[in-house]
Amino acid sequence: MLACRAMADDPKLPDDWVRPGPAGVRPYVPGRPVEEVQRERGLEQVVKLASNESPFPPAPEAVAALEACSADQRLYPDPGCWELRDLLAGRLGVTTAQITVGAGIDGLIKYLGILALGPGDALAMSWPSFVQWRAVAGIQGARVDAAPLASDGSCDLDGLLAAIRPETKMVVVVSPNNPTGAAVESGDLDRFLDAVPDHVLPVLDEAYFEFLPAGGHDGAALVASGRRLAVLRTFSKAYALAGLRIGYLVGPEQLSQELARVRNAFDVTGPSQVAALASLRAPGTGLAERLDLIRAERERVRAGLEDSGMTPLPSDANFLFVPFADEGEAAGAIERLMAAGVIVRGTGPFGAPEGVRITIGLPEENDRMLAALAASTG
Ligand SMILES: *Cc1c(COP(=O)(O)O)cnc(C)c1O
Repeated sequence: MLACRAMADDPKLPDDWVRPGPAGVRPYVPGRPVEEVQRERGLEQVVKLASNESPFPPAPEAVAALEACSADQRLYPDPGCWELRDLLAGRLGVTTAQITVGAGIDGLIKYLGILALGPGDALAMSWPSFVQWRAVAGIQGARVDAAPLASDGSCDLDGLLAAIRPETKMVVVVSPNNPTGAAVESGDLDRFLDAVPDHVLPVLDEAYFEFLPAGGHDGAALVASGRRLAVLRTFSKAYALAGLRIGYLVGPEQLSQELARVRNAFDVTGPSQVAALASLRAPGTGLAERLDLIRAERERVRAGLEDSGMTPLPSDANFLFVPFADEGEAAGAIERLMAAGVIVRGTGPFGAPEGVRITIGLPEENDRMLAALAASTG
């Protein structure tokens, strides 16, 4: 039996086999899975408010479409994602050729890095921000020029401009910014795009686009108006399809053609295409109401945290960032929440400032989180 066999020594890789780029990258640290925490702590109920997932299930139409296609997975999926790209193009007012679908924004970030970044190149971004942008530069052996955030936690666009050098290939604006939550103003974004030098491709990570208030920026509309930029959106957050790994890029047609060189042949599964299509076609009722509920809960949670003496940063997304004085305080809050069965995200992996990022859940989940924090600070 396998379990009884003595384990052989695990063979080692040759010295210096991994390139210096990836060798210097820290592996992504995901939020702890619910089942693991449940088992470890002997808790009956565990709430995960750690990965900015939707607290709601996907649209019923998406679930039905997934079930209907489940027995029919014999063939490779459509690598061109034509139906989805056509539908998105019509909705966004861009051409189908301006859209590339990928295995989440994450997959598209990798492709952008492979296309544009190598040793000697640079990527400019704010920090702390979405760690995968920093990682892809490292993997490719390119350097990261990090600009501090504005005081509200949004990207400091002037700081980003100042970080651009002759070697810079991309300047990345994550808005709303993760882990902090605030978005840049749309007028400021316009002025920023005007000022980005010609040798740089501006990239706008709009993972939380659907949560923006009226009057917020709209990267796809900027592309439709002829702006040269790449915009990234996802079905993982507002559409509650994080498990399926599907997102898209809107940008110049030439960028789509270049991305086609490096894409995996069949990187977007059939079921994810089916579910994304069904989500977009689902009648307008569900999504808007759910987004409203999450926004209302976010402000209720903010008030609750403030009552307990905390000062969350402004947020235009489905999460709040609570700064703490030091690492110890943040770790203490995370541990007390964990003991109460609430998983949140420490920002150690994101770098300073020390803090806790809390995803907005269902009202009862948020209450449980607030109660645990109030008990520990009061
Ligand atoms: C969640 C997130 C992503 C990743 O989205 P996927 O489509 O699930 O890969 C990208 N950027 C930001 C800022 C995010 O918060």
